Amino acid sequence: MRGVLKVISRGAQVVARGPVTVHYPYEKKQLPKRARTFPYLIWHHDLNEPNCTGCGKCAAACPVDCMSTTLTKNPAHAAGTSNHKSVIKDFYIDFGRCMRCNICVEVCPFDAIAMLPLWEGHEQTKYDRRELVMDLDDLLAPSRADVELPFWIPETILEKTEKERVNRAEFARQLAGGGD
Ligand code: SF4
Ligand code: SF4
Repeated sequence: MRGVLKVISRGAQVVARGPVTVHYPYEKKQLPKRARTFPYLIWHHDLNEPNCTGCGKCAAACPVDCMSTTLTKNPAHAAGTSNHKSVIKDFYIDFGRCMRCNICVEVCPFDAIAMLPLWEGHEQTKYDRRELVMDLDDLLAPSRADVELPFWIPETILEKTEKERVNRAEFARQLAGGGD
């Protein structure tokens, strides 16, 4: 008898708890801030250019060889409006091959690439897998459109790139006329 009551009580608890899943894709749970979705490039809104210099460290470190980068001399540097001598010219990532390991984010010395833990950064269903090859415009589009996006870079990496971020911010401040 006690066993039967225990089962009934457990069943009542489950019913009272309510559903623990949602009806995806009509409803979506918020992704955790550390969710590994896909890597995107970061746009520097004050300097109006990508943070990416095209150094190629990420592509060299990518374990599945799904990235390629080429750089060019940065005309903004020659014009005195950027502190980066080079800038990314072409950047491709094949999201169909990317395994979202985060290594590209971890090796970047320029704070230029990060995972975007939003469904928009995650849902990439296509009929043709060639459409999963993202180019520079695709990779910059989210950051360029919204400065508030919650890109995720691990704390340890942020510590390593702190100096770069400070240098960029200081350069932008001086450019805007905030220097001494
Ligand atoms: S997350 Fe990993 S697999 Fe994907 S592009 Fe970066 S290094 Fe390559
Ligand atoms: S994302 Fe970072 S590591 Fe990759 S090419 Fe750009 S600056 Fe270099």
